[in-house]
Amino acid sequence: MGSRNEHRLIVIGGGAAGFFTAVNAARINPNLNVTILEKSREVLSKVRVSGGGRCNVTHHCFDPELLSKSYPRGEKVLRWSFEQFQARDTVEWFKERGVELKTEGDGRMFPVTDSSDTIINCLMDEAKKHGVTIRTKTKADKIEPLDDVGFRLHIHKSKPMLCDQLVLATGGFNRENAYEWLKDLGHSVRSPVPSLFTFNFREKIFADLAGISVERAEVQIKNTSFTEIGPVLITHWGLSGPAVLKLSAWAARELHEREYRYDVQINWLHPMNEQEVRKQLTNLRDDQSRKLVRNQNRLPFPARLWERFLELSHIKPDKRWADLSNKEIHELTQQLTRGTYNIQGKTTYKEEFVTCGGIPLNEVNPDTLESKKVPGLYFVGEVLDIDGVTGGFNFQAAWTNGWLAAQSIAGE
Ligand SMILES: Cc1cc2nc3c(=O)[nH]c(=O)nc-3n(C[C@H](O)[C@H](O)[C@H](O)COP(=O)(O)OP(=O)(O)OC[C@H]3O[C@@H](n4cnc5c(N)ncnc54)[C@H](O)[C@@H]3O)c2cc1C
Repeated sequence: MGSRNEHRLIVIGGGAAGFFTAVNAARINPNLNVTILEKSREVLSKVRVSGGGRCNVTHHCFDPELLSKSYPRGEKVLRWSFEQFQARDTVEWFKERGVELKTEGDGRMFPVTDSSDTIINCLMDEAKKHGVTIRTKTKADKIEPLDDVGFRLHIHKSKPMLCDQLVLATGGFNRENAYEWLKDLGHSVRSPVPSLFTFNFREKIFADLAGISVERAEVQIKNTSFTEIGPVLITHWGLSGPAVLKLSAWAARELHEREYRYDVQINWLHPMNEQEVRKQLTNLRDDQSRKLVRNQNRLPFPARLWERFLELSHIKPDKRWADLSNKEIHELTQQLTRGTYNIQGKTTYKEEFVTCGGIPLNEVNPDTLESKKVPGLYFVGEVLDIDGVTGGFNFQAAWTNGWLAAQSIAGE
């Protein structure tokens, strides 16, 4: 395709996965002629806005098995991919290029500069150093595998391009028909649905309490096995926070099928169970019998939220603890440990939309990410049916995919 020693690689998509594939392939094999095609004006635009402009590059979890558990889709394949390139390798890779990462309390890792520009500059410098050509405003329209080897790539409003190997790094699409050109190659597509969103209440029972968070709640989607434990944040519309976002990712398909109408049940006092909470309330009745029920200092709730639980249990806050009946204690226990809320609809989390769905993982070689249908074609990043929970896991999948594909491409 190129000169005798020169192999031509085209990467479609100038995002995290495309860049990582391109720069590593070009570095490993200097005989590769590498071009990134990006349909928009700017490359790495999601990296730029990610993590609120700080770029949550990866997560401080250096155990491949544990790391893989943060991917509702892709866990099995990533489990082994992480043996080759995991979060520790990401940290090293950037460090070797002068970019230090730091870890925040919840495990998310950011550049010490707190600026996504640091990551963008690093990837751009690396591309320049290894002679990677970048063409923006260039949209690939159609892939035509050639009879012997290689591809003719049809470009929107421009001349076709030829290459020996091709990497699909287009990110996820939120409409199934955007995958049509990949179906033409014999691939199938898991239909895209959103992941990472917050839950909207049908009735705005906590709306005036927006901003209050409960450190350790257990949230369950009723009549399913989906449960998460962690911080829950009350918002104007409903519920957010790590436990809710994780649930939205794990149950993305099921919730989509239910058109985002379902019930959640919350134990606001996890790890205490129903019996333990009932006992606590009974003890409070005995120990503080002369105080008003609005006053308590044993359960970890801000006063306004505590009063709302009383209201939902039909208990007047100016009642004395001594006057609380067993029935009222039972009702309050239910509200605190099995509060059930009807959800209708969702809200995108800080515009961090991630799609689940894409090219099924059983259609690529898990060691190389080369298509099993079309030799010489690779898939990396969110175009695959891989997605992680929030916290740097999605970029980590992009780096790992890119690394593996680059090894295979450059080794040939
Ligand atoms: C607002 C926001 C914040 C986020 N923050 C984080 C975070 O902090 N940490 C984290 O881990 N994840 C985060 N994510 C998720 C993360 O950005 C994605 O998982 C990741 O960018 C996927 O990388 P990718 O290279 O596969 O796809 P993308 O980054 O989407 O890149 C694909 C590129 O391909 C181009 N393209 C598509 N089709 C064509 C075509 N036909 N021809 C040419 N070019 C094409 C697109 O224009 C795009 O630039 C965030 C997402 C969003 C939206």
